[in-house]
Amino acid sequence: MAEHIHCLIIGSGPAGYTAAIYAARANLKPVLYHGWQPGGQLTTTTDVENYPGYAEGITGPDMMNDFHKQALRFGTDIRNGVVTAVDFSERPFKVIIDEGKHEILAEAVIIATGASAKWLNIPSEQKFRLNGGGVSACATCDGFFYRNKEVAVVGGGDTAAEEATYLAKMCKKVYMIHRRDTLRASKAMQERVFKTPNIEMVWNSEIDEILGDEFVTGVRISNVKTNEKKEIPVAGVFIAIGHQPNTAIFKDFIDLDEQGYIKTVPGTTKTNVPGVFACGDAQDKVYRQAITAAGTGCMAALDAERFLAEQE
Ligand code: NDP
Repeated sequence: MAEHIHCLIIGSGPAGYTAAIYAARANLKPVLYHGWQPGGQLTTTTDVENYPGYAEGITGPDMMNDFHKQALRFGTDIRNGVVTAVDFSERPFKVIIDEGKHEILAEAVIIATGASAKWLNIPSEQKFRLNGGGVSACATCDGFFYRNKEVAVVGGGDTAAEEATYLAKMCKKVYMIHRRDTLRASKAMQERVFKTPNIEMVWNSEIDEILGDEFVTGVRISNVKTNEKKEIPVAGVFIAIGHQPNTAIFKDFIDLDEQGYIKTVPGTTKTNVPGVFACGDAQDKVYRQAITAAGTGCMAALDAERFLAEQE
């Protein structure tokens, strides 16, 4: 028997929890499913120092624990489980949890499934990422820890260009390692990179291994054309090879852009399906910050509340 609810929130990052706090306070009795990574991307970062309200900074996991407690305090029904299929062809919307273990019928759905950074997927990268030893996918989050040090950025798109120019302001030197000899980034971003004196381009190169014991001490790269190997000493490595929004299960019903991000009506969280709202990184490829995700989570709850009120 399907369970019939008012408001379902899918995802438990800053967007999902903020939507939950607002929806619960508006008496929508939200049910929130955690997904496969409770707390979202922030649980894989170390210190968060740019989220307003935490004057001394906080770790990503502790911050998400606070979000969780705040959502619980107002009565959000927070559950373990992964949404594995949806049918948004009619209302109430059908949502399948854990491949059929449970079925929900929801009058409104808020999608807050986030995005996942793409990784090179070499063992040394994963080791330093997980131990906080110097591999990150977010310069805005972690760049501060590399003040006056030398770092590497991997990638040749707008994200990599942005990360490199951001890091160049605080780091002694930034090596931008790219597997080809031209950047994919927009011309304007390319110009900014080339005009920044402490960014050195490392063309036609891929990282074979990230070096170091507990902390990163360098990278070993190989030239894809000559196969020549070289080591560059750096204290941190920023992987900026793109993000993948976690939206595949919605693609049959929800309009996505060519990269898979959910399209929303500008200035709102409305999707092409009335009653389904999207917030956070699942619909944002530009800002991708905890604070902007939380902001759109709030918007989604307000949009859902208004939508449900109009249906009564
Ligand atoms: P992109 O897909 O545009 O670029 C990814 C880059 O990483 C490419 O240069 C690619 O190389 C490289 N890459 C991919 N996989 C690997 C790998 N396994 N090993 C080494 N290198 C790899 O992603 P972005 O995140 O940069 O941008 C995504 C979208 O978001 C774009 O449309 C971009 O314009 C937009 N964006 C806009 C911003 C803004 O307007 N301010 C800021 C950031 C992003 P190759 O070029 O060889 O394929």
